[in-house]
Amino acid sequence: MNGKDVVMAFPEEGIGARVFPRDLSQFLNRYYGEKDVEVLPGHTLTDLQRRDGLFLLNLRDAKTSAERTIEVDGVVAGIGIAPETGLAEDAGLPVENGIIVDECLRTSHPDIYAAGDVANFYNPALAAHIRVEHEDNALTMGKHAGRNMAGESIPYHHLPYFYSDLFELGYEAVGQIDSQSESLVDWTDPYRKGVIYYLRDGRVRGVLLWNVWERVQAARELIAEPGPFAPEGLEGRL
Ligand SMILES: Cc1cc2nc3c(=O)[nH]c(=O)nc-3n(C[C@H](O)[C@H](O)[C@H](O)COP(=O)(O)OP(=O)(O)OC[C@H]3O[C@@H](n4cnc5c(N)ncnc54)[C@H](O)[C@@H]3O)c2cc1C
Repeated sequence: MNGKDVVMAFPEEGIGARVFPRDLSQFLNRYYGEKDVEVLPGHTLTDLQRRDGLFLLNLRDAKTSAERTIEVDGVVAGIGIAPETGLAEDAGLPVENGIIVDECLRTSHPDIYAAGDVANFYNPALAAHIRVEHEDNALTMGKHAGRNMAGESIPYHHLPYFYSDLFELGYEAVGQIDSQSESLVDWTDPYRKGVIYYLRDGRVRGVLLWNVWERVQAARELIAEPGPFAPEGLEGRL
């Protein structure tokens, strides 16, 4: 979109393969290709050198083990984060995939709270401890922790959503979005507009709203419903 030549390399078979169903992820490879991005699925970065103001990237094809080197002006590395829990550990607070907090976002010490990317909290709708690295959670949870620190005792039951844009496509997602889960794909327009429901043990655990807007709250309510749901029964639900 800024007139640059872009190469996108990643180890999975398709863009977003861990979260999107396989055919959607394969569609995205083609879609990015149409936008003049050179997409290299199944490629791992094995080396990165700086030379004369440029970067030399060494990439290995997982299937053939063939290596290639490409020369680029800049690198954007999307490689995830590790929560910075050193301070909490030094203070003797329980840490396990983030800083563990109770319903009111308090750690094991009554005067220490944690919120945002670093906090591991319990969500009743998913009946699971989760840690979420997204803006909606950071903003909502931060305010919530602040209110509790100022004397309230309100449990944090918010089920966060996250969003992204992919050229003209955009999505909002709620709950646990995992391509390994059972799913029902309900397209209005294939790969352009639709809803994907992710199920586990007869319950809806996550909803991907693909170019479908203003359904986040309805998706949260569906996830909170005990069910049981069969995938077919969810068609047209949101
Ligand atoms: C490239 C990128 C793209 C993103 N895109 C999206 C998106 O499209 N949609 C979305 O929903 N979310 C997105 N996110 C995630 C979102 O930005 C984060 O979830 C959010 O910023 C987390 O807020 P936070 O306050 O929990 O943590 P942070 O913003 O990481 O703030 C933590 C702060 O604590 C400081 N700190 C750490 N240790 C100490 C210490 N010992 N003492 C003092 N200070 C300390 C850090 O320096 C930092 O300033 C993106 C993140 C990145 C990096």
